[in-house]
Amino acid sequence: AAKRQGVPSSVYDPGFDTSREHHLSLLSELRNALDRPELRLLYQPKISLREAPVVAAEVLMRWEHPTRGLVTPDDFIPFAEKTGFIREMTQWLLQRAIRQAAVWRRQGREVELSINISARDLIDQQLPQRIASLLTLESLPPRLLCLEVTESALIEDPDRAADTLQAVRKLGVQVAVDDYGSGFSSLTYLKRLSVTELKIDKSFVAGMTSNAHDSAIVRSTIELGHSLGLSVTAEGVETEDQLTLLEQMGCDKVQGFLFSPGVSRERFEATMTSGPAG
Ligand code: C2E
Ligand code: CA
Ligand code: CA
Ligand code: CA
Repeated sequence: AAKRQGVPSSVYDPGFDTSREHHLSLLSELRNALDRPELRLLYQPKISLREAPVVAAEVLMRWEHPTRGLVTPDDFIPFAEKTGFIREMTQWLLQRAIRQAAVWRRQGREVELSINISARDLIDQQLPQRIASLLTLESLPPRLLCLEVTESALIEDPDRAADTLQAVRKLGVQVAVDDYGSGFSSLTYLKRLSVTELKIDKSFVAGMTSNAHDSAIVRSTIELGHSLGLSVTAEGVETEDQLTLLEQMGCDKVQGFLFSPGVSRERFEATMTSGPAG
């Protein structure tokens, strides 16, 4: 179980949200969820189009709330970020994901696992050290872990984000820029930050077969990524036509409902043995 710390101080901040009681109860529910099997990790395969097939997956969180039903991350991550609880949650997630990757590796299956981290995690200067400890504890090669960071998280505090990511890269852990193209960021951070992968936002992939602008953006992102020595992943791939175009454009990896949504560990393990459909 995750370590318990005090209730994040931001909850007691007098300036905090008006519906404080609601938030307090949600927060305590979320804390409890970490101790029970309520928070679920789903695995969405990332399929290599170019290199020798690498088995990779992105971890997506779900909260199976006892009365509210299945809560998607968009409904609890922003809340967890606002209260500061995200740090505890990310630590819990890292622990689980690293342990799982280590278990697979001992079974002879190397899976590169990507996990999503938020802006709040990036300003946490202890993060690299905690990741290092977990990797050592589980004897997992750092290259099997990738942190996905959104553009918007990077621009929140670019200096600290750069420091944290540099320390993470020094460990040998990979870093992907998520939702690439969807934010208001400039290209300069790509130069400053040591990232290893660009993930083209699914809105461009959705439009790329019908909209010339979207397809131009996808094409030039792939070219930009490659000229910077980065691997490029397209997310949200839903059709064969999108896949064909992405293959022609030299995209490195694809991810999307065409292949698989996020699935349970058991189902993901089954796709590893049989190979992904599509
Ligand atoms: P994201 O990192 O951009 O993740 C991709 C989202 O697109 C996921 O939604 C995934 O289920 C969905 N998706 C995958 N393939 C397709 C497709 O072909 N078509 C369409 N329309 N959608 C597709 P999900 O799981 O609801 O996650 C939403 C966001 O919540 C994620 O966006 C990520 O930013 C955040 N998130 C998810 N899990 C975690 C987590 O463990 N920690 C943190 N900090 N954030 C998380
Ligand atoms: Ca992601
Ligand atoms: Ca994304
Ligand atoms: Ca997103």
